[in-house]
Amino acid sequence: MNVKSPTNPAAPGGAAPVAPANVKLIIDGRPIEAAPGTTIFVAAKNAGIEIPHLCYHPVLSVVGACRLCLVEVEGARGLITSCAAPVAEGMVVRTTSEKVHWARKAVLEFILADHPLDCLTCEKNGDCQLQSYAYRYGVTGTEWPGERRQVAPDATNPFFERDLEKCILCGRCIRMCQEVQAVGAIDFVGRGFGAKVTTAYDVPLEASECVFCGNCVGVCPVGALTPKLGMRQGRGAELTTVLTTCPYCGVGCQLDLKVKDGRIVRVDGGDGAANHGLLCVKGRFGWDFVHHPDRLTAPLVRNAAGELVPATWGEAMDLVASRLKGIVATHGPDAVAGLASAKCTNEENYLFQKIMRAGLGTNNVDHCARLCHASTVAGLAASFGSGAMTNSIDEIAGADLVFIIGSNTTEAHPVIGLKVKESKRRGAKLVVADPRQIELARLADLHLQHLPGSDVALLNGMMNVILAEGLANEAFITERCENFEAFKAVVGKYRPEVVEAVTGVPAAKIREAAIAYAKAGRASIIYSMGITQHTTGVDNVQSVANLAMLTGNLGRESVGVNPLRGQNNVQGACDMGALPNVFPGYQQVTDPNARDKFEKAWGRQLPALPGLTVTEILGAAAKGQVKGLFILGENPMLSDPDQRHVEEALRKTEFLVVEDIFLTETAALAHVVLPGVSFAEKEGTFTNTERRVQRVRRAVPPVGGSRPDWAVLVDLAGRLGLPSGYAGPSEILDEIASLTPSYGGISFRRLDAKPGDPATASGVVAAPGGLQWPCPAADHPGTRFLHKDKFTRGKGQFVAIDYLDPAEMPDDDYPLILTTGRVLYHFHTSSMSRRAAGLACIFPEGYVEVNPRTATELGIADGDPVRVVSRRGAITIRAAVTGGITPGVVFIPFHFREAAANVLTNPAVDPKAKIPEFKVCAARIERIGAKEAAAFEAAGAAVTAGAGGAVGASGPKGGGAR
Ligand code: SF4
Repeated sequence: MNVKSPTNPAAPGGAAPVAPANVKLIIDGRPIEAAPGTTIFVAAKNAGIEIPHLCYHPVLSVVGACRLCLVEVEGARGLITSCAAPVAEGMVVRTTSEKVHWARKAVLEFILADHPLDCLTCEKNGDCQLQSYAYRYGVTGTEWPGERRQVAPDATNPFFERDLEKCILCGRCIRMCQEVQAVGAIDFVGRGFGAKVTTAYDVPLEASECVFCGNCVGVCPVGALTPKLGMRQGRGAELTTVLTTCPYCGVGCQLDLKVKDGRIVRVDGGDGAANHGLLCVKGRFGWDFVHHPDRLTAPLVRNAAGELVPATWGEAMDLVASRLKGIVATHGPDAVAGLASAKCTNEENYLFQKIMRAGLGTNNVDHCARLCHASTVAGLAASFGSGAMTNSIDEIAGADLVFIIGSNTTEAHPVIGLKVKESKRRGAKLVVADPRQIELARLADLHLQHLPGSDVALLNGMMNVILAEGLANEAFITERCENFEAFKAVVGKYRPEVVEAVTGVPAAKIREAAIAYAKAGRASIIYSMGITQHTTGVDNVQSVANLAMLTGNLGRESVGVNPLRGQNNVQGACDMGALPNVFPGYQQVTDPNARDKFEKAWGRQLPALPGLTVTEILGAAAKGQVKGLFILGENPMLSDPDQRHVEEALRKTEFLVVEDIFLTETAALAHVVLPGVSFAEKEGTFTNTERRVQRVRRAVPPVGGSRPDWAVLVDLAGRLGLPSGYAGPSEILDEIASLTPSYGGISFRRLDAKPGDPATASGVVAAPGGLQWPCPAADHPGTRFLHKDKFTRGKGQFVAIDYLDPAEMPDDDYPLILTTGRVLYHFHTSSMSRRAAGLACIFPEGYVEVNPRTATELGIADGDPVRVVSRRGAITIRAAVTGGITPGVVFIPFHFREAAANVLTNPAVDPKAKIPEFKVCAARIERIGAKEAAAFEAAGAAVTAGAGGAVGASGPKGGGAR
């Protein structure tokens, strides 16, 4: 199916393939048409005819093993397995004949022969497919009572139970693990009566390759795989289902929250455009933080003795409004600043920046996009005119080649990782450039293991080869781009042999990667913070953009430049203008027309100069220039570089307000703490990494006295004299749409309507799967990929970029390169994920990844506690010795407060995007003495107990071993 051609398959003049004629058949007396190759099962399903099944699942390969989907086909000898048989012209099919009925009944009795008949106590009662078919076919027992398998349920891991006595050997879980997850942690073992599904050597799951996505649990049709008690309660009809959006990463998976008595009791994969029912471990099992006893339930105000004590909402809000107004009156509007939140909704981010600009008169508003994708926003906007993912998540599966650079996709954006695996399964080539041997590097056709910070050199080297080999797409360059000659002159210097010396990647591999990328008909680039978090972040992003333009891999299906945004709503927070230089929709604050529009809408004069960025705000706070700071749902104490400097800045702030759901390290320093709510307690929208605006729906009431953040912000707006009569987030989104052309056609009405709903009769164009911006009008379907015939800025701009060293290179005192990142089981500063019991249990502590050669030189062994030191500070952390990282490079995940990587990182920033260089700093590792090691072990045990909660008996998954 993949086009292997260096030319643009969508180029004008290419003849569209002619689709073969449909097959006509009769099913249950109804004339039906289906595409050739469609199975009888799918043709029936598409026509609304349901055929019972157990081993069949739409996302898995067909095995035809359970035989429950048998149908009668006229003229055929015996009954036919409908999930495996293709339709044929003139076929006459009966799905409910008496013959079929008795055959299915026999199949069910046969399956039940060794199945426990304890449905009343089975956790799957009400959701079990086997049980519901048994009722339907009147099966109350079996004519073949026989020996029963007797295996004790396995509940050793923190997430789900395996009860092999209930397993019907349909193999769905195995196919999910092998085909979709591409992990292969489980398989059939044994034959006949002894057959079972288990891990290699029958080890517990936590000792296997299992990543606990739980997608096997999601497809198990019986009670063999169920979430552990605590992650499932209640059955079938007792539960209310609320479809909403995952609060963790930017993939935007849809979750079905199962609610009972005002509490979430289970999460299933929701049917969303980004995830199609699949989830990762965080989405499926990481939700119990919502009900954690640490939740803030009342405002806190610091008293004269310096303690945070409970206060009423009225007292707290009076204080916040009066202190912020007082600082503005005394020191001017730019003495206050605000950090908005990539965790909060679009509506809340919109209100927040409106309050800062119109209520307080300053553009000093920013958020943590500054720390992750500021380079993308600046770089892609300059190259293409739009700083967002050019294509959609689903399109990745259709690429001929996927080039991943600086993205540990399967850990940081796991469900997009599944799309990459799907593309590989369909025959795409996979090229991964990463300093570490991440999971996708192990699956890749080619791994370019370059040194952290050498991306520009590597990309220039690849482009040098493409030019030298005559593989550039000259027609695309001539028609659609500019500044090519200046770019070409610079790239000409980067012969692969020159680049090898800078990057450590052999010249032959650079050539091979470049030629494969250029020759692929549809090549998709995925990148993330390995590209952006550098002092050359914008250069890196624009080099990626150059590569795509050079080969014409833009403006078509399954190509493009695809930055994966980190947090659930970091794309939305940027779109909403939670940035110091733009209003919502990236309308420049320096543009008089844009300012005039917002001044008219908001009824206030607005500041004309860009404000301060996150790093500048903290710098100004440390100098006493920013005196009032409002932080909404962010935790700079752990997320920003050079933690000592951040703490100094926050302590120096005259008036610090933090709104959050937990007393984070940052909230603990505040003068006022406002208790916000989690994603599950409020209404609104998030925008995922592919520009898709999706609904966030309230499933449970706010905990204690906490209030939805939008309501708190409306309250504050009123106290600052702004109109604040919003009835709810729906009205706020309407205001956003009225002022933001790319969101012009997006509303709750469209997102909540389903085709055929009464609302559609009155003209609402339903978009239940979400809407991808630009979506300028109420009847616009949204935009799947950008820059179709023309770049947003007109012509795509090539930029001539020379390689520059990172700000801090190794030297005699600090001979190692430290790079930082994420792990699968935790998220950001882990304020949520370490309060999710299973996640905290499976991955309780941080680690420093060290190459065996480096470890030998330092005299350290796997598991040893060591001290990692940089020019900013030192932390003690356990060593994980692995050949997956380059000698001389070390890696630390940044989630763990007791071993915070950002004590060490370099605050040097990219000059244009002001993003800090989290990915490279110089460091050294020191061995520690026995006394210090004993203290480390004791402290670690205390932290683990505090964070985790006792779930299961399993030890850490991966910590110290990955
Ligand atoms: Fe949530 Fe991201 Fe996992 Fe999807 S991939 S379930 S959005 S954390």
